[in-house]
Amino acid sequence: MRKVSTDEITEAVKELTIRANYELPEEAVTVFEEALKREESPLGREVLNQILENAKAAALERMPYCQDTGVTVVFLEIGQEVVIEGGDLMEAVNEGVRRATKEGFLRASMVWDPLFERKNTGDNTPAVVHTEIVPGDRVRIIVAPKGAGSENTSRLAMLKPADGWEGVKRFILETVKNAGPNACPPLTVGVGIGGNFEYCAYLAKKALLRPYGQRHRDSKIARVEEELMEEINKLGLGPMGFGGTVTAVDVRVEVFPCHIASLPVAVNIQCHATRHAEKVI
Ligand code: SF4
Repeated sequence: MRKVSTDEITEAVKELTIRANYELPEEAVTVFEEALKREESPLGREVLNQILENAKAAALERMPYCQDTGVTVVFLEIGQEVVIEGGDLMEAVNEGVRRATKEGFLRASMVWDPLFERKNTGDNTPAVVHTEIVPGDRVRIIVAPKGAGSENTSRLAMLKPADGWEGVKRFILETVKNAGPNACPPLTVGVGIGGNFEYCAYLAKKALLRPYGQRHRDSKIARVEEELMEEINKLGLGPMGFGGTVTAVDVRVEVFPCHIASLPVAVNIQCHATRHAEKVI
């Protein structure tokens, strides 16, 4: 068994949280540069130029790309031949977020409780942590801060199997249309189809981590992704919702078997602050 200490996890989460907030991934910058060539609206092009300038400034000046530094979503893929030593794993992750918030001057956005007091926890903890046990002796950590603007426009529906692809497509397009400017487009749209209520949402969230332009390995699903891209861009929302031809820069669909009587579909909307950073320990 390979040993990984909680101190290493804390340090990695801190570093990744700061990096994700300061530096838009290189592939996202490239995608926005390409979108600039396609966008037909002058105002849309102006917004894309500002997005690119903002990304450059944030990385250079070492400051957050967006004021909403989000809920810190952490994906942990833990090799089944790894032993985590040194204490509570979740506390180690939260300590990393706590230090990143303080040292990286990130906005603290988490409140407790969600219903009545809504008092700021002061350090952006707790993180939302998803763990998966995978083969091997490594720990892969992905930090993906998620702002409320786009997260609030995400939706899930338990459709009937008879609704079929047309029903699923209608729901996805409605969700994107309703998101409008509140989700700060250009969007990356993560879709989960199948599984059950909670797994479907997880699939949609995980879809946001797939590299840009990488279509699903199943050609039927890849065609569905292409069709959705086309239909979403026909909605005409454009960059920041000012109108234009580029509403989404990517649509990714993840699928899973589901119950004979169910057809769950979840849409996780990602704004242009498509932040994530990863490290393998
Ligand atoms: S939706 Fe995204 S870009 Fe808009 S304010 Fe929130 S985090 Fe920032």
